Amino acid sequence: MLQLSLSEDGATRTAPCFYDLQLSTMPAVPEKVLLAAPRGYCAGVDRAVQTVEHALDHYGPPVYVRKEIVHNKHVVEQLRARGAIFVDNADEVPEGETVVFSAHGVAPSVHAKAAERKLKTIDATCPLVTKVHVEAKKFAADGYKIILIGHAGHEEVEGTMGEAPDAMILVETIDDVAALEVPDPERVAFISQTTLSVDETSEIITALRGKFPKIVGPRTDDICYATTNRQAAVKELARECDLVLVIGSKNSSNSNRLVDVTRDLGTDSYLIDNASQVEEAWLEGKKVVGITSGASAPDELVQNLVQLFRDRGTTDVGELEVIQENMRFMLPKEIRAVLSENSLPVAQ
Ligand code: SF4
Repeated sequence: MLQLSLSEDGATRTAPCFYDLQLSTMPAVPEKVLLAAPRGYCAGVDRAVQTVEHALDHYGPPVYVRKEIVHNKHVVEQLRARGAIFVDNADEVPEGETVVFSAHGVAPSVHAKAAERKLKTIDATCPLVTKVHVEAKKFAADGYKIILIGHAGHEEVEGTMGEAPDAMILVETIDDVAALEVPDPERVAFISQTTLSVDETSEIITALRGKFPKIVGPRTDDICYATTNRQAAVKELARECDLVLVIGSKNSSNSNRLVDVTRDLGTDSYLIDNASQVEEAWLEGKKVVGITSGASAPDELVQNLVQLFRDRGTTDVGELEVIQENMRFMLPKEIRAVLSENSLPVAQ
């Protein structure tokens, strides 16, 4: 709402009315802020980030990292500031240097290219992604056509498809299943990306089982514990809140799914990199604001967002714990070796 006024020089000016001033000077103060638990870092992300940190400590900068080590801008910038150099391809790494492969995994052709260039490699692929690669290799060796449920262009999907490119078909939706044609419907297997929507993937698997009754695959899907738990927690959170803010980067699959799951339940939700991206209009009339974060988002970003609300005057800040997590993965063998050489503890 704007008011027109005439200034001394006779020109027409626009000036905010009292109502506008009130809106711009009185930020919304939610009565309560509720944090989802679990949220944020998973064991695979923690392991991958620690891998680059240890590599920087031991070898000194620069340490090359193929692709973003995890899909989080803040984490990537922090590691870049310490001397990590992020590249798209192993071709960009000078011969003989050290390169870390990201948590999302790589195709065998990437390992081959690195060996050709005599690179020292440290593989920070999450063990739960490696498990899917192992399934893909096994099904391909047994002569199955493999349906991979996932998002085209995602690094994890590219790496998994690379295990058996001739045997793999990617499906993203139920419509893709309807259009599927395979040479032998009795010899079909399925696997999935680890960071999908649990509910959507279950619907796609039901459609696959309906179309190919003899299809084989994992008991449920390959969605990892962290993705499953964060979606379960945000569902509970969505029921308690008027708005759910999800901290995560735009290219983070599991963070995007947290927004989708929340919106599917009818609760407003937005994905933000950090507290500075909160828009005032989102908060208007919201009494309880929920906060969660994707598996690659560090908790300091969540705490900064909580502080934003505390600074406005929200004193009621709580946590909604839905599932307890205590998963840990061992660091890659190259890092364990350097830690033990230096008599440092190898356990995380
Ligand atoms: S989100 Fe899941 S698959 Fe991805 S790194 Fe974390 S634990 Fe591993």
